[in-house]
Amino acid sequence: MSKSIFPWRSCAKQLGWGLVVFTVATMLGDRGYLEQMELLYLRLLLMPIYGTEDQRQDFLRELTSMDLLASYCLTEPNSGSDAASLQTTARRQAGSTDYILNGEKAFISGGGAADVYLVMARTGEAGPKGISCFYVDKDSKGLSFGRQEDKLGWRSQPTSSVILDDVRVPERCLIGKEGEGFTIAMSALDGGRINIATCSVGGAQFCVDAAQGYVSTRKQFGKAIIDFQNTQFKLADMLTKVQASRCLVLNAATALDSKAPWASASAAMAKRFATDECYNVANDALQLHGGYGYLKDYAVERYVRDLRVHTILEGTNEIMRVVMARHMIKSQA
Ligand SMILES: Cc1cc2nc3c(=O)[nH]c(=O)nc-3n(C[C@H](O)[C@H](O)[C@H](O)COP(=O)(O)OP(=O)(O)OC[C@H]3O[C@@H](n4cnc5c(N)ncnc54)[C@H](O)[C@@H]3O)c2cc1C
Repeated sequence: MSKSIFPWRSCAKQLGWGLVVFTVATMLGDRGYLEQMELLYLRLLLMPIYGTEDQRQDFLRELTSMDLLASYCLTEPNSGSDAASLQTTARRQAGSTDYILNGEKAFISGGGAADVYLVMARTGEAGPKGISCFYVDKDSKGLSFGRQEDKLGWRSQPTSSVILDDVRVPERCLIGKEGEGFTIAMSALDGGRINIATCSVGGAQFCVDAAQGYVSTRKQFGKAIIDFQNTQFKLADMLTKVQASRCLVLNAATALDSKAPWASASAAMAKRFATDECYNVANDALQLHGGYGYLKDYAVERYVRDLRVHTILEGTNEIMRVVMARHMIKSQA
């Protein structure tokens, strides 16, 4: 019986104090680095970027201790790609400055395991302008979690729904201003998309190396499989896809760092291309392993399963095309 574990607290610790303090200190005007740590749920760092000076002081310990990990809660059961239609509400309680949050978030990475939940909730009109962002503590009364989802890949990473039932949140936990939540949520996605694309490139490079190693030693028809030209051409195409993905990712990271107006479109392009092509590379690597590639004794089957979800999360690859097409149309106007 296999176990799904991810020692995320020790991973976070390994990143070290220095990096986090540096990040908090330097990132107030530069959102580029932030997302590199997204997979460790450090979207908590949205706080120093969008929070008030008072909030930065209030949450300094949380931001620099590496003791707290945060989940990003945007998706809902009825609001996935159309994130601006989310229905979770945050209403002011009469005679109080507190907010009361109600609703359900779906597919939340770190759900049940993270200490802090950055929840996008509706405080106003329908659409993106009525959404605000809240810092919700795990121990808040009324906050609960659904079952851990049983997934094809990313099995070591906890994913669950997050349920908010009359969760009371003090005003100091509103990040940014009322109505800025959607902008905050979207700003986290450009870097998140580059991050996911980067993970795909790393996984696919592993698969190329593993496949090349395997076909160099595996013999059929009296010779190593790598000696067949078809195998050589396949490996050459796989490496080309990985390298092209890597170039697009670097291009997007440069655009984001320099705050280029095309940064979002570049991130979407890199994410779309790299996650599709790197998944294909992993699948080709499995094929080159023959039946052995299908066994858990070899790592490639896990890469095929893990890379698959990259075409779905941080916005599906169809939505990446929407982002790119919108940029193209706007640039032409
Ligand atoms: C393992 C995992 C972890 C996740 N972690 C998080 C997290 O931490 N926080 C969070 O907020 N969310 C998270 N998500 C949610 C993820 O971002 C959504 O699953 C994703 O945005 C798609 O939403 P959906 O699943 O509702 O699909 P839907 O939006 O229902 O889409 C279904 C299909 O329709 C297509 N489609 C939708 N609209 C269009 C359109 N306009 N044009 C063309 N095609 C379209 C989609 O591309 C897709 O193929 C996670 C998901 C997974 C699987």
